[in-house]
Amino acid sequence: MITGLEVITMVCSTMKAGSECAFMTKTGCGYNGGSCLTVVEQCEGCQRSVEFPAGKFCSSFPNPSIKWRTSACNFATHAKMETKAEQKVNPLKASKRNNKKK
Ligand code: SF4
Repeated sequence: MITGLEVITMVCSTMKAGSECAFMTKTGCGYNGGSCLTVVEQCEGCQRSVEFPAGKFCSSFPNPSIKWRTSACNFATHAKMETKAEQKVNPLKASKRNNKKK
């Protein structure tokens, strides 16, 4: 049994002032460069995009542009993930199907 441990959550005092943040430390923001970056154009309409006095920031990620670099952000609430419409076709079964049609 572990006793005497408590989780200490730090509250941001820089860009997202007042919100809990995993990057906040006693010595300040521990994220790369010491502050979060604002949301990008693709984040427009996302519910995780929150307005702060310093600008609009993502409530989940410190650098939203990284989430959109290769594909759509997987946490976006306004964009649906692309699903593969193509089905895998078994060539043997497809051949049998075609032979039945003849
Ligand atoms: S969750 Fe993704 S889309 Fe939404 S604000 Fe954050 S980075 Fe942008």
